[in-house]
Amino acid sequence: MHPQPRLRNILGLSCALLLLFGSLFAASDINKKNTPDYRSLARQLLERGLSEQCTYRILARITSTGPRLAGSSGAAAAVKLTREIMQELGFEAIHLEPTEVPHWVRGPEARARLVSSQLGSTPLSIAAIGGSVPTPDSGLSARVLEVDTFAELKARADEARGRIVFFNRPMDPSNLDTFSAYGAAADQRVQGAVEAARFGAKAVLVRSLTMRLDDYPHTGMMRYDPNTPRIPAACVSTKGAELLHNTLEQDPGAQVFMSFQCRQMPPVMSDNVVGQLTGTDKPQEIILLGGHLDCWDLSHGAHDDGAGCAQALAALRLLKTLGLTPKRTIRAVMFMNEEFGGTGGIDYAAAPKRSGEKHLAALESDWGGFLPLRLGIGLPPKEYERFLRWEPLFRSVGLQGLSRGGGGVDIGPLGAQGTILCGLITDSQRYFDVHHSAKDVLETVHPRELELGTIAMALFAYLVAEEGI
Ligand SMILES: [Zn+2]
Repeated sequence: MHPQPRLRNILGLSCALLLLFGSLFAASDINKKNTPDYRSLARQLLERGLSEQCTYRILARITSTGPRLAGSSGAAAAVKLTREIMQELGFEAIHLEPTEVPHWVRGPEARARLVSSQLGSTPLSIAAIGGSVPTPDSGLSARVLEVDTFAELKARADEARGRIVFFNRPMDPSNLDTFSAYGAAADQRVQGAVEAARFGAKAVLVRSLTMRLDDYPHTGMMRYDPNTPRIPAACVSTKGAELLHNTLEQDPGAQVFMSFQCRQMPPVMSDNVVGQLTGTDKPQEIILLGGHLDCWDLSHGAHDDGAGCAQALAALRLLKTLGLTPKRTIRAVMFMNEEFGGTGGIDYAAAPKRSGEKHLAALESDWGGFLPLRLGIGLPPKEYERFLRWEPLFRSVGLQGLSRGGGGVDIGPLGAQGTILCGLITDSQRYFDVHHSAKDVLETVHPRELELGTIAMALFAYLVAEEGI
C-alpha cells in the first residue's frame, strides 16, 4: 500500500509548512555568531526530529515511484520527484548531474520447477540475477551439481558440464557483522556464472543472500567475463535452496527447469540529484550527506536506499527548520546507480563542477533505515582522537558513539580528493531479511528509527560545517 497522490501532496506540503513555521521561530540559543551551544542544538534536533518525523513522509513519497532500477522509468520518476522535494524544502543550487547507467530489463516473472522422478515436481521461487542473459524462450532443464565454494566446483569440474551449478553456501550465521557475512557469501552471486561457465555448465542457481528461511529470492549484481560463455544465472529463495539440497540427497538425478526472459538494453543517461544549504562564510567547502536513489527492481528499495536519500533530505530540512545557517555548505546528493556499477558516485567526483569545491567530509547512509548505532568517521587515528570530543553530543541523540572508519560506494571516489569518508552504521541484524528482495518496502521501516539516523546526520553536518574536521 502506498499513499494516494493527493495524500502525498498534503504530506509534502505539511513538511514545507513546518519548515516555514520553524524558521520563524528559529532557536535563539544556537547563535553561531556567539559561543555555540551544541548541547542545546543536539537536544533541539532530537526533539524537533522525533516530534515531526518528516523523514518517513519523504521516504513514503520516494517509494511511491515504485522500483527504481537504474535506467528504468521508475528511476527517472524518482529523479524528478527528489528534485521537486528539494524545491519544496527550499534548498539552494538544486540541479541534476548526468551519469550513464546500464539498462537491464527483467521481463515477466521467472518460473522454475524441481523435478524428481521419485519425489515429484515442486515449484521453486527464483529471480534472474541483475545483468543475467535470458534462458532460451522455452526455458532450460538440466541435472544439478550442488557446491559450496569455487574450490569445490574446481575439484568437481568434470561433473559440471551440461549441468545447472547450484551454489548453496549460506551467509555465516555465527558472524555478528551481517555485512561481513554478506561479503563472504556474495562471490557466488557476483562471480558464480563465470566460474561455472569455465567448466561447461548450462546455468547457475545461487542461494539467496539472507539469513532468513523464506520463499523470497534476493537479487543483486553479477559479472560476466569476455573469455567465458554467458550463461543464465538466477537466485533461489532459501526455502527453495533447502528443498533442492534435501531432494538432491535423496535423488541425485533430480532436474531443475527454469525460464526467464530478461534483456540487456543499450546504456541510458540518468542523473544524480543535488541540492544544498549554501555556507555563509566558506561556501566552497562542502559537507556532503548522501544515499543512492536507485534500487533493485523486485521492491521499492525502502531500506536500500530510499532511507538514506530521505535522511539526507530530511537532515538539511531539519537544520533549516531550526533557522540554522551553516558557515560551510551542507549538500544532499541522491546518487544514481550504486547497485549496477556505481557510475553516479564516480561521475559526481569527476564532474567539472567539482573544480573549485573542497569536500571536507562526505557521509553516506546505506545500511538501511534501522536504529543507528554509531557514526563511522574515516579520520586518521590522531585526528579521530580529536573528533572524539563530540562523542557525548552523538550519545545525547541516541547513538552508542563514534567509531573510526566509514564510507560508502557512492562517496568512495571522493576519498582520492582527500575527503573524509563517513557512514551511518545501523543495527543491521534484520537488513538482509529484506535486502534486494520484494520485502524491501516502506512498511518494514520504523519511522522513529529512521528519524534518529536523520538527526545524527544533521548534527554531524552542522558540527563539521561550523568547526571543520
Ligand atoms: Zn544500497
